[in-house]
Amino acid sequence: MARYTGSKCKFCRREGKKLFLKGDRCFTDRCGYERRPYPPGVHGQGRVKFTEYGIQLREKQKVKRMYGLDENQFRLFFARASRLKGISGENLLSLLERRIDNVVYRLGFVNSRQQARQAVKHAHFLLNGKKVSIPSALVKKGDEITIKEKSRTIPSFVESIQAIGRKEIPRWLNVDPTTFKGVVTDLPVRSDITADVEERLIVELYSK
Ligand code: SF4
Repeated sequence: MARYTGSKCKFCRREGKKLFLKGDRCFTDRCGYERRPYPPGVHGQGRVKFTEYGIQLREKQKVKRMYGLDENQFRLFFARASRLKGISGENLLSLLERRIDNVVYRLGFVNSRQQARQAVKHAHFLLNGKKVSIPSALVKKGDEITIKEKSRTIPSFVESIQAIGRKEIPRWLNVDPTTFKGVVTDLPVRSDITADVEERLIVELYSK
């Protein structure tokens, strides 16, 4: 399936909130949502009343876009989450957080999930000392993620590493910028995910 290459800011405007898809730019006054906080399109500034289905759909689209997945990938994650013990919605968020592209973003090695996805695909990271190039690979407790030695001088990594002290690293991760290494100290649980998400709506949508 073709990947969407248009404006990411449209996603934020469509969902009515900032999804932080463009790294540093999201924190500046160049943020598309700050400048035009209404949905894109000619009717964007009109009143929109969502049906129950519409509300569920928007929630699913929001989470899908936050993590940069297409519909098929997202459905596969949902199916996997449904097969696990526990609450499907919480399992889904935990699985999404454990994707290695999300983890390198959370560790502060890159500035956005989009950058993370590309950097993983270009094999700039090692997982437990071995090359990894699949963004959907899941980490587990105890895993170590390192920036490859050759990649450490790439300007975008240098900048990100210098800024790690100013970033909020999640409870379940530990990062040491001096060794370019991050460790998964625990698995993420629902309370670790601070984004405004109502996963119940996604479960309801896919249960229809
Ligand atoms: Fe969303 Fe970031 Fe674009 Fe702002 S700059 S609209 S937060 S992607």
